[in-house]
Amino acid sequence: MTGKKLFITLAVILGLALSAPQAKAKQDILFGGASIVGVYYQVALQLSNIMNKHQGDKYNFIGRPTGGSVFNINALERGAFDFGVAQSDRNWQAYNGAAEWEGKPITSLRSLFSMHPETVMLVARKDTGIEKVEDIKGKRVNIGNPGSGQRGNATDVLRIYGIDPASDFRAEGLQHHEAARALVDRNIDAFFYTIGNPSAAIEEPATSVDIRMVHLNHPGIKEMVEEKPYYIMTTIPGGMYRGVDEDIETYAVTATVVTSENVADDVVYDLVKTVFENLDEVRAAHASFRNLKVEEMLQGLSAPLHPGAEKYYKEQGWM
Ligand code: GLU
Repeated sequence: MTGKKLFITLAVILGLALSAPQAKAKQDILFGGASIVGVYYQVALQLSNIMNKHQGDKYNFIGRPTGGSVFNINALERGAFDFGVAQSDRNWQAYNGAAEWEGKPITSLRSLFSMHPETVMLVARKDTGIEKVEDIKGKRVNIGNPGSGQRGNATDVLRIYGIDPASDFRAEGLQHHEAARALVDRNIDAFFYTIGNPSAAIEEPATSVDIRMVHLNHPGIKEMVEEKPYYIMTTIPGGMYRGVDEDIETYAVTATVVTSENVADDVVYDLVKTVFENLDEVRAAHASFRNLKVEEMLQGLSAPLHPGAEKYYKEQGWM
């Protein structure tokens, strides 16, 4: 092609490109979950799918695996994510400047709605002989990666049982997909995990090795639960996981969808409206979402409501 022809060809292409009707740019929205095997990742993925199905002309929602609750709360503050899933206790601590956030509260944190309840669990391989919390002394136990929500729950449980993670056992900081594998491979003896039920994150190791679930029912736990509005005592029904036939006493938090005050009201409104208008689709998307109820989804929110969510709830007469 001569230089002139090339020039004409390029000019024609450019002209066509400029005159073609431009598709309106969709807004990319990042939604943080947690470990790839957990339920949070399913919240991020499934709500993203539902948004892309019903509001795909406006948005491109992307569900991403992350380090968990603490990571998500911090990433929302930095503006790295638009939405994230986080435990109700961690939201409270972040907004009020407690635990990791002592002296540096995340005042930009905002709530949308609650999802499923999550139980605090200590799962051991049966052949380790771990039957009660005290038995983890001298063993290798995963307490969770620093970005996870469960690390704080594990820390509370250990403090209440008077066990020091620095000296009484070997504490690991693995993400859950690594911990489940390490349990099966005998590289750890037990793990703490705070997660909705039933979940593949527990089902998978439970089908590969014989497991035992440990009761977390110390009077000190019951006292803590009484004191904090975001905890409840609960049981994991026997038969939920292979090899765990008795009911396991423990306590629970709520998984919540959170955002930042800097995310636009209409984006939050569109997500909330789409979720509640298509709640049957949400319920069908994962076993942990099966029992979602509107009244309960508006409870347990420990950071203030985002105005975009509040607008929808007021329109519905729910508040
Ligand atoms: N509760 C865990 C956390 O906050 C995540 C559980 C899940 O992945 O479902 O990190």
